[in-house]
Amino acid sequence: MGRYLLLPVLAIGWTLPASAAVEPGEAAPEFTLNDSKGTSHKLSDFRGKLVVLEWLNHECPFVKKHYSGGDMQRLQKEYTAKGVVWLSIISSAPGKQGHRTGPQAEADTKDKDAAPTAVLLDPAGGKKIEYRPFVVKEEKILLMAAESKDEKTINSAIREVISACTNGAVDVFKLPLVDMEYLFLQLRSHSVGETVKPNVKCSKCELPNEVEINLKEIQPTSDPDHKKVIPLVADISVVMKYPTVDDLKDIDSQSDIDKALTLLVKSIDKVYQGEKIFNASEMDPKEVRGFIEEMTQEQFKKLFSFVETMPKLEKKIQFKCKHCGHENDSTLRGITSFFS
Ligand SMILES: [Zn+2]
Repeated sequence: MGRYLLLPVLAIGWTLPASAAVEPGEAAPEFTLNDSKGTSHKLSDFRGKLVVLEWLNHECPFVKKHYSGGDMQRLQKEYTAKGVVWLSIISSAPGKQGHRTGPQAEADTKDKDAAPTAVLLDPAGGKKIEYRPFVVKEEKILLMAAESKDEKTINSAIREVISACTNGAVDVFKLPLVDMEYLFLQLRSHSVGETVKPNVKCSKCELPNEVEINLKEIQPTSDPDHKKVIPLVADISVVMKYPTVDDLKDIDSQSDIDKALTLLVKSIDKVYQGEKIFNASEMDPKEVRGFIEEMTQEQFKKLFSFVETMPKLEKKIQFKCKHCGHENDSTLRGITSFFS
């Protein structure tokens, strides 16, 4: 028990804090990020070397300009050959311009013939959160919740632990669900270990099989068709936002159609009608609901595609069933599926 309690506070900077003004000659603030292959890098790993930090967003016009002519790639090749460490950092949040998952970033590197030392992913998009690992007490809360196999109990245990481990710095209820889940996976892999072994049902015989997963390989999905601004008719567009944990707290008890409606009500940020802007936060939820209920099927589908393509935590898995030999090829979605 003492071993856990003696662990120092672990500061994980997903990005350099904006306030980190560094004087020339001083050590740069430490950060730890995963690269596009899932390998973790600490800035201090490169102590004593020249390190180039390049912020990368392939949809940014300036980035496009320097990559399309091959200038950036030339610099990367020239300087990495001289022993310089070149880190390209993608800090666009899921759903934001330039966001990439690991495999997408890998494909970009190949496609552009880029040659950085590594492409680092910072999907929390600019939020820096300090946390300490779980202590035994918190691990116990989580284990008990996992044994209950009840999604609500598990989610509330996760919220409790995140809040405790971040010393209240994170208001879990105000986070989009995917951010809460991602934060929890980071915490879990730094506290207990990177590997989990959930039991996954075989799709043929329905018997459970233990499957090993590396939590570090799980990144929020990003769908190329995901759009935040949805034009409905000629002069009406809807701007969407990600529903928070708090927004979704009662959703499990609702019928499917109510679930879909609630999700949409909570996902609408603004409505543009001609010159007018309506902020959903200033409207009565009943009014927002009425607005949705008056839509045609086609308009409803357009809006709902936002929810369907929203970033999620998922992991593709393949395993041969130990009971019937069936080759399973499936996808685990959402945090509880990784710990079942
Ligand atoms: Zn089977």
